[in-house]
Amino acid sequence: MCGIIGISNHKEAAKVVYSGLYALQHRGEEAAGIASYNLDEKDIHIVKSPGLVSDAFDDRSISDLKGTTAIGHCRYSTTGSSNYKNIQPFMVTHKNRPIAVAHNGNLTNTEELYRKLEEEGSIFQTSMDSEVIIHLLAKTKHGDLKKWFVNVLSQLKGAYSLVFLVEDKIIGARDPQGFRPLCLGKINESFILASESCALDLLGAKFIREIEPGEVVVIKGSTIESIFLPGAKKVKKSHCIFENIYFARPDSDIFDDNVYFVRKRLGEQLAKEHPVDADFVMSIPDSGNYAALGYAKQLKLPYEVGIIRNHYIGRTFIQPTQFLRDLRVKIKLNPIRDVLKDKKIIVVEDSIVRGTTSRSRVIELRKAGAKEIHMRISCPPIKFPCFYGIDFPSKDELIGSKKSIKEIADFIKVDSLEYLSQEGMVSVMKKTKDFCHACFTGKYPVDVPSKKGKYILEKGRQR
Ligand code: AMP
Repeated sequence: MCGIIGISNHKEAAKVVYSGLYALQHRGEEAAGIASYNLDEKDIHIVKSPGLVSDAFDDRSISDLKGTTAIGHCRYSTTGSSNYKNIQPFMVTHKNRPIAVAHNGNLTNTEELYRKLEEEGSIFQTSMDSEVIIHLLAKTKHGDLKKWFVNVLSQLKGAYSLVFLVEDKIIGARDPQGFRPLCLGKINESFILASESCALDLLGAKFIREIEPGEVVVIKGSTIESIFLPGAKKVKKSHCIFENIYFARPDSDIFDDNVYFVRKRLGEQLAKEHPVDADFVMSIPDSGNYAALGYAKQLKLPYEVGIIRNHYIGRTFIQPTQFLRDLRVKIKLNPIRDVLKDKKIIVVEDSIVRGTTSRSRVIELRKAGAKEIHMRISCPPIKFPCFYGIDFPSKDELIGSKKSIKEIADFIKVDSLEYLSQEGMVSVMKKTKDFCHACFTGKYPVDVPSKKGKYILEKGRQR
């Protein structure tokens, strides 16, 4: 998963993008990059680095990014390893024209396009699906900008929200299913494209609208033109429901709805379906907070904070021993003994993927004195991998695909475990029902590749 952003017509374009990336940090913590177009040099300059936005840039590197148009990216790899060459924006110069791209989502016809392009002589520098888009741009007649992009994007399948920098213009695009979010905002005479509206709030920009599924917008200075991919308006929309459940920030509006209220309603519905009496309701912070609030409200039970999250923990490398792994969990989350001791509690969590973190947290709650633990999950069991940009592991690693709910409850050591139903989940989506829920049902709205994997473009690393 990734966060993308772009701004036009702003004298501090790179600095605005840099600030906006902070609001999108939750979408990708592995690496970050900014590209800006320097009008004097007629070239794009890029600064990128592994790590969080706060670590990836410094005053000097940002000041070197001159120009009034810029795009940015923060990365959580879903195609290609987490290494330097795979950091975005990815940039090339073709026929004297510098082009950079920032991509969120996963293409499903990557391998097919990659092999074809390689046969035709393309030399790839990275193992990202996003590079395929740049090669298609190079191979397609440039001519009229809108037609050029429509010709190229029509060849892509799967999930893409994209922001391009082509000389001093920004191009934004979304796949016809609208898997990933992308919105448009305005501040004075500058347009901003961003994955989520919380980035617009941070920059003091006015939310104008979401980029429509299948829409391509070309922004030059303070003008914007829009065009749709052929047939896109007739395609059934398939917004990723997991954005609402877990991924997006609760202060964002995506898919026409506010994420905070969607999560609260998921919690309320969960309480209607699976009530249990207890001393109080709590969450595993932060992902379960909002559904837990809704759950407590619905049952008129107290809401308590039973675990404190340490916000100063950055990325930590995989710990080699169980003792160190346990320490890591403890640094991140610490239960409050006096809240938990001898209490019967309801713990609300947004989802269970592998079950390993839920298990370790439940063990900590027991050690802190909780007498009975009833876990409630604000979505159905995740049983199928995602091919559209969420980094869910293979079916083998998804606990929901291998074990029954009773077996999962035993594994994570809770007294009871219940999940929200598929119908209940969809019922609380008020503004649209057009969602992709393939991770729960296995019904994929766009054909999925026969070979799955983050490393499909890396020989020897395919999984
Ligand atoms: P676990 O108990 O190990 O399945 O971890 C569950 C927590 O990790 C929940 O808050 C999930 O929403 C969160 N999570 C979200 N996305 C992922 C992912 N792609 N892989 C693993 N865990 C995830």
